[in-house]
Amino acid sequence: LKPKPAVPAKPPHVAAPSPTAPHGPSGLGGGVGVDRVPGLGHSGGGSTLLGYIGIDTIIEQMRKKTMKAGFDFNIMIVGHSGLGKSTLVNTLFKSQVSRWSSGWGSEHKIPKTVEIKAVSHVIEEGGVKMKLTVIDTPGFGDQINNENCWDPISKYINEQYEKFLKEEVNIARKKRIPDTRVHCCLYFISPTGHSLRQLDIEFMKHLSRVVNIIPVIAKSDTMTPDEKNEFKHRVRKELETHGIEYYPQNEFDDDMEDKNENDKIREAMPFAVVGSDKEFQVNGKRVLGRKTAWGVVEVENPNHCEFALLRDFLIRSHLQDLKEVTHNIHYETYRARRLNDNGGLHPISANNTQESNL
Ligand code: GDP
Ligand code: MG
Repeated sequence: LKPKPAVPAKPPHVAAPSPTAPHGPSGLGGGVGVDRVPGLGHSGGGSTLLGYIGIDTIIEQMRKKTMKAGFDFNIMIVGHSGLGKSTLVNTLFKSQVSRWSSGWGSEHKIPKTVEIKAVSHVIEEGGVKMKLTVIDTPGFGDQINNENCWDPISKYINEQYEKFLKEEVNIARKKRIPDTRVHCCLYFISPTGHSLRQLDIEFMKHLSRVVNIIPVIAKSDTMTPDEKNEFKHRVRKELETHGIEYYPQNEFDDDMEDKNENDKIREAMPFAVVGSDKEFQVNGKRVLGRKTAWGVVEVENPNHCEFALLRDFLIRSHLQDLKEVTHNIHYETYRARRLNDNGGLHPISANNTQESNL
């Protein structure tokens, strides 16, 4: 086998006829272009090779394993009450994955302090199982004094890192560590049309170092298109001014292709979204929407709001990356700090002669 030419980290969709180039987009779902029958249809294009080896079947092998194992995805929603957080996650996952949304009837009381409520569901699509956990933070931003109200949230996030770390350093560690780490924190900005509140800035500043934050403008149907664009622009400027690094962070772009793709997303953020659990009849089709003074705002119509942009970004293009950045950057930072802080963790090769420093 001759030395392999440098293969780009993400192969182009139409690969040059190189016998070693992986073909087609990888990943779950569609499996477009992935050869389901190993060994067939690959005689190899290179004249120096005698025949097909089968390296590319790794993709299919990975697919099968992932299908069998399923995966965890944990999303946190933050923002003061009534911003449509529960409605939006329910819209995103097309089900009642978040309790306390309007659809659940009875008015719930605003708690006196920030509470953390995690609810899990298994969602299956195309044979792929996702264990989705929605972590709600009722009470955030609802108090008269909201000083340090991100404390319980940052505590929760760190506790999940700690749990994972404890499992990892166990001598008899699990084959697969249950992942409760927060992969993504959707931060809901109030559609005031003015500017970010101090609390928004403080929260994102503090938390953007420990978790992937995706800011969104809530209930954007309450603004006119002009107001919305102006507000988006202003919010983006303010985030920049305050040095808030939201996801996808510039510094973690893997290569030029990544950068170009993410630049486009960053330029369109924060997405101005609308959520709904009500259907309307539009041109003979049933669509999710909200009735406003201007007519029905269709949630999934990109001309009406940016819900579809958010969904495509969050689920269809960056879900795996959110998990990877959580593991490779945020968790790694936590882990390194913890293992450096002498004594915080019990000695890995625990022998009973050594006392814990706690
Ligand atoms: P949460 O407290 O942030 O979880 O908010 P909910 O999802 O419970 O929604 C609060 C209220 O706002 C409900 O009456 C929803 O129907 C409404 N709502 C939710 N999303 C939107 C939206 O995108 N636009 C508008 N105008 N109202 C919304
Ligand atoms: Mg709610």
